[in-house]
Amino acid sequence: MLPSPSSLHDFALVGGGIVGACLAEELGRQGASVLVLDAGDEPGHASNRAAGVAAPSLRYLDDREFFDWLRTAKADLDADVARLEPQYGAFSVTRPILRALRETDVDVYGEMLEELAVGAWVEDTELASLAPGLNLPPSRRYLLDPNGMMVDGRRYLNAVRRRCVGQGVSWLQNATVREVREEATSIALVADDRAFQADRVVIAAGAWSSGNGLAESTGIRPQRGQMAVLRTEETLSCILSSAFYLAPGVGGDIIVGTTEEHARFADHVTTQGIDQLLRFATTTMPRLESSIPVELRAGLRPMSPTGRPLVGALPSHERIFISAGHAGHGLLSARCTAKGLAEGLLRGNWEVLPHSMCPAHALNGAA
Ligand SMILES: Cc1cc2nc3c(=O)[nH]c(=O)nc-3n(C[C@H](O)[C@H](O)[C@H](O)COP(=O)(O)OP(=O)(O)OC[C@H]3O[C@@H](n4cnc5c(N)ncnc54)[C@H](O)[C@@H]3O)c2cc1C
Repeated sequence: MLPSPSSLHDFALVGGGIVGACLAEELGRQGASVLVLDAGDEPGHASNRAAGVAAPSLRYLDDREFFDWLRTAKADLDADVARLEPQYGAFSVTRPILRALRETDVDVYGEMLEELAVGAWVEDTELASLAPGLNLPPSRRYLLDPNGMMVDGRRYLNAVRRRCVGQGVSWLQNATVREVREEATSIALVADDRAFQADRVVIAAGAWSSGNGLAESTGIRPQRGQMAVLRTEETLSCILSSAFYLAPGVGGDIIVGTTEEHARFADHVTTQGIDQLLRFATTTMPRLESSIPVELRAGLRPMSPTGRPLVGALPSHERIFISAGHAGHGLLSARCTAKGLAEGLLRGNWEVLPHSMCPAHALNGAA
């Protein structure tokens, strides 16, 4: 028999990765009582394994509302850096991002890129001085955005979690939620052999968000990403975004990432994946042939059926909410998501989140 439930919290959050942690902090800061239940020994899965490139991906240019939201997200992340780093230590480094574009993409998106002022075109003659040591194919056009950033996800999450705990959020590790039940006036949760109660619950369990007993209707699934960390004395002054990324990490190593694979919940690297990445790295920066691979890692990105995060009430539920599906931009967009979701949860204003992220809209196939 389960013990009687703990006291009633305003919100219980299932999952303490960067998405859950930022939301817990937002809600707690605005006076709500918050309980975070996280399954792991330490919080975060994808958040701890991400490459850490914090710049809106041009793959979303076709969805202008969402792309603009990602740009707002970058501004919110910048504010987090300014607010949290002085107290909890550095978790980011600012670097320009050099994007390699195909001529065909420039034909389609050139005008939009100019209008959005995403960066400045770099002439072939300037490339060598801008990115010394890089072997860049002349068949591409290069766009330089000075506002790129690398974020160490584990350190960022640790800073946000410490801020949460400091402001009174109750945070439990090794608490795997296996049941979320909507009752007449509250939500009952079961995590292992413990019972909890909350007025409302938010599922923020990353790639596991539609797992047993959670938000099954959302169809969130894992996408594996592999990456390599290379130690070298060579200097890379910018983040190169091409077929893959080559980027200077926060700790000084060079990060090569990342694959995008459907491998269910297998979160290990493969010879084929790492081989692809290392070939890209040494072709693009030949001097990396003598670098030392100090870490090879893989993680599971949470992917929704629409390719956009799902943030808001679960259809047919009044007290169960979801915030998951942040794909390859969760470090970039967790804070912006949290601000928008807190605005919806605390003040009923859902207009601040892009329409494509609304679960009722997205899960009706209308996205
Ligand atoms: C290889 C790779 C590279 C990436 N690169 C970038 C990048 O360059 N830039 C960027 O912005 N983003 C990047 N991402 C994406 C980013 O990491 C994710 O979008 C983000 O971390 C998702 O955060 P999350 O909190 O939703 O999930 P996670 O960090 O996965 O956290 C989920 C949490 O839920 C908990 N949980 C799961 N099930 C339960 C349960 N039943 N009960 C309780 N708790 C549960 C887990 O223990 C975990 O702590 C990358 C991801 C990967 C894997």
